[in-house]
Parts: sequence; C-alpha cells; structure tokens
Amino acid sequence: MLLEVNELAVSFGGVQALNLQHFQLEDRELRVIIGPNGAGKSTFMDILCGKTKPDTGSIVFNGKPTRGLTEVQIAEMGIGRKFQKPSVFPGLSVYENMLLATRMKKDVFTSLFSRMPAGVQEKIEAMAERVGLTSALHKQAGALSHGQKQWLEIAIVVLQDPRLLLIDEPAAGMSDREAEKTGELLLELSKQHGVIVIEHDMHFVKQIATKLVSVLVNGKLLMEGPFEEVKNDQRVIDCYLGR
Ligand code: ADP
Ligand code: MG
Repeated sequence: MLLEVNELAVSFGGVQALNLQHFQLEDRELRVIIGPNGAGKSTFMDILCGKTKPDTGSIVFNGKPTRGLTEVQIAEMGIGRKFQKPSVFPGLSVYENMLLATRMKKDVFTSLFSRMPAGVQEKIEAMAERVGLTSALHKQAGALSHGQKQWLEIAIVVLQDPRLLLIDEPAAGMSDREAEKTGELLLELSKQHGVIVIEHDMHFVKQIATKLVSVLVNGKLLMEGPFEEVKNDQRVIDCYLGR
C-alpha cells in the first residue's frame, strides 16, 4: 500500500472541514475524488502534503508516518502537489521553470553553485515531449495558454520524482480537447506514480476513472466505487443536483 489514512479530521473555527475514517491507495493507482464545493477535497490534499496540520488521525506513506513532518520533508518523502492556482514563474521560460524543478530538492547553495548534472537537459526535453510543450520550451511561461500552463505545472511536480502525485482540478477552465489531453497524460503518469486527482467535470472523470472514484461530501467519504456505480448512486446524484 502506498498510502494509508485513518481517522483524519480537521476543523476550522468549529466547522469540521474533513472527517475521513479510512482511505487507502495502492502504488500506481489513479484515484479520482469528486464531491460538491466545500466538501473538503482540497483540505484533504492540504493535509496529505503537510500544508495543513490535522487535529487527529494518521497518514502512513510508503510505510512511514508523516505526523509532525514539515511540508518540505513530506515532499522529500515523495508526495508531490499540484495546486489549483497556477504557480509557475511567468518571467522564466518553460525550460527554466523545468530546470528549477529538477533542482528543487537540493539546498539553495548546491542548487546555485553546482554544475548542471549530466542528463538533466535530456530529462527536461523528454518531459516537455510528454506534456506536449516541446515547441514552447523557450517561450516565457507567462505567455503560455491556460492549458499549457497547467501542463507545465504537472511537469514541474513530476520532475521532482514523486511516488505520489496530488492534482487538484487539472481540467478546470480547459477546452474539451485540452481536458482530453490532460486525461491521457494523467493515465500515462499513473503507470509510474500513484495519482490522486480532484475533479468536478464528470465527462473528464469518466475518461480517467479506470479504477475507483471516492466521493466526499461534508468532509466525509460518502462512497467509493467504479465510475459507473458512483455515477448512478442516488445519493451522489442528489448532492450534485443540490437535492
Ligand atoms: P473543496 O476543495 O471540496 O471545495 P475545501 O477543502 O476547500 O473544499 O473546503 C472545505 C471546507 O473547509 C469549506 O467549508 C471551507 O470553507 C473550509 N476551509 C478550507 N480551508 C480553510 C482554511 N484554511 N480556513 C478556514 N476554513 C477553511
Ligand atoms: Mg477545492
């Protein structure tokens, strides 16, 4: 098991944002988490990557508990997070953004004063190819389309070699064609990494949910199952239609 979560809860000012009894993920599994706005989906990812500290509960990643570890230590263990809002350096080129990502794990001194290790350029070029940014490699990141920025963000996380990728609403704001390409990319990535994807768009969920879908409502796990089962569940339909 790559990830095992038990009794994970957090409240903000008396409101329970998350109260998750049990969640687990196998290595190289792609899990989709769906649920209405405010269900606690992003909060769950915030806790997994150490950005938010839970009130109670345990997270065991790759056999090791993450309790008490900082965000940086958790990233070093192999949990990589792509946030909902873009966070690329707009003034740097796509190539430079990716180069920084390959050096993110080293301390600043090593990163600034060591020579570029052999193979890094090839690694970046291969990643650009994978995410469809080869022809944009020397463009400024700020000049990319919305979809291209999202792919660059995914590339930046993957270049840090995580075992688990956490991806929050990757298809938001994308055209159908861009969303489809993103889905293909996520399916590809799940051959090498565990992947958890939060998504709203049911069309997109259908494309990527080859295994289980977890439904979060009011901070709790409502159900977990294959896409067809989840999609036809009356409780899920009710909470998507707002009852
Ligand atoms: P989702 O991603 O499923 O839309 P969130 O995890 O963002 O939901 O939010 C779950 C609940 O927790 C919401 O009621 C939200 O307002 C609240 N919440 C999330 N983060 C914070 C925070 N840092 N401080 C206070 N309340 C928060
Ligand atoms: Mg969210």
